[in-house]
Amino acid sequence: GEQQPPLHILFFPFLAPGHLIPIADMAAVFAAHGIRCTILTTPVNAAIIRSTVDRANDASRATGCPAIDISVVPFPDIGGLPPGVENGMALTSDVDRERFFEAAQLLREPFERFLADNRPDAVVSDSFWHWSADAAAEHGVPRLAFLGTSMLARSCTESMLRNNPLETVPDDPDALVLLPGLPHRVELRRSQMMIDPAKRPGHWALFQSINAADQRSFGEVFNSFHGLEPDYVEHYHRTLGSRAWLVGPVALASKDMAGRGTDALSPDADSCLRWLDTKPAGSVVYVSFGTLTSSSPAELHQLARGLALSGVDFVWVIGAAGQAPDSSEWMPEGFAELMARGDRGFIIRGWAPQLLILDHPALGGFLTHCGWNSTLEAVSTGVPMVTWPRYADQLHNEQLVVDVLGVGVSITGGKDYAASGEVMGEAIAESIVRLMGDSEEGDAIREKVKDLGMKARCAVENGGSSYNDVGSLMDELMARRTA
Ligand code: UDP
Repeated sequence: GEQQPPLHILFFPFLAPGHLIPIADMAAVFAAHGIRCTILTTPVNAAIIRSTVDRANDASRATGCPAIDISVVPFPDIGGLPPGVENGMALTSDVDRERFFEAAQLLREPFERFLADNRPDAVVSDSFWHWSADAAAEHGVPRLAFLGTSMLARSCTESMLRNNPLETVPDDPDALVLLPGLPHRVELRRSQMMIDPAKRPGHWALFQSINAADQRSFGEVFNSFHGLEPDYVEHYHRTLGSRAWLVGPVALASKDMAGRGTDALSPDADSCLRWLDTKPAGSVVYVSFGTLTSSSPAELHQLARGLALSGVDFVWVIGAAGQAPDSSEWMPEGFAELMARGDRGFIIRGWAPQLLILDHPALGGFLTHCGWNSTLEAVSTGVPMVTWPRYADQLHNEQLVVDVLGVGVSITGGKDYAASGEVMGEAIAESIVRLMGDSEEGDAIREKVKDLGMKARCAVENGGSSYNDVGSLMDELMARRTA
């Protein structure tokens, strides 16, 4: 029959690196399947993904796949925000945070204009843009919600919203809350709950809107894969009845392009990788808490003590989430001397080439806050984790890593760190040694995470589950077009 023009999908990521990065990677994956992709975002956020998109487009030119476009629109100016503050990473106060969210809602106008002018076959919009479900429906465009988290975390939120188990739990931060109906026993302290209607009613309402919008959408797209959390995939289909496509880990697309475009943001990339070249296989721990979680001087102090005490060589990212406290505020005694040796640790101030570091043979562990992208990147590169989650889905992701998959060791032992105060350097050192030292436990963890890394690779390859999920999504969208 007649040759159809390629499917066109509009991506509309939330404005934070942890959402923009996987969306750029996902666009690269979709483009490799022959889908025309456009990413709608603002100037500062476009800069974060520009080099990743350029790399994907270089690869596409060789294979004849469609190029990815970035449609750049101004960040809505409502006053009261410092210039250049266009994403979650740049926010430093609650006042700014409120202004930022208020301004960001005005992106609905350019979003709708794009739909009206370009009539894409579908939109993949972040679940945080819950209003995009109705906006897309008004334009007759199917909307897919992008869930930047695990199926497990998604199922926990759903259980929480559906059952409100907090209703019968005392108003005590240490009270235990059981989330009903999940494949595994998921119990957290009240203070660890991502949403607590008693504490933040607005937040609860927001999550209900998000959940409702996702459920009236065409479906949900996950950066995960069937083999990673099969019980939760099954649970999701049984209880939510929505459609889901699991197309990850999308970071593998960037890994195959020898790192991400964002790695170019890191002036320390080359020297760090050369430093890692001097280290034996599996001997170094990489320490990072992502782009939004900044550490206090007390936390940095205990981390430095822990890294020193562990005796394990380390690469430590300080201040990727913004300005780090001056070292005089946190450096323990003897740490400057330890660093001066040059061979024990490498500190990166600012942005790290995370994917390249994780993929280096010298890597033996990742001390992580369990952001979903970091977690998946560790799984994809077969690196076991030392977990120190702080808030939101990070606590659920830790449960997946430690309790369900058995590919990590928890520093806090599931206790609420924020409420119980300090994590001591001794506990940090003990967890690192438990994971990376010579032991049966360490060997078992390493074997499991290598195996998962292989499963991740198979999932995205031709005929794998994630590869096939992209294909079935394309078939549905094509069928809709001709219907
Ligand atoms: N990242 C990076 N270099 C850094 C810090 C973060 O490349 O110095 C990347 C990391 O690889 C991941 C993303 O930024 O893809 C962070 O997402 P995640 O979900 O792990 O955490 P968040 O920052 O959203 O809390």
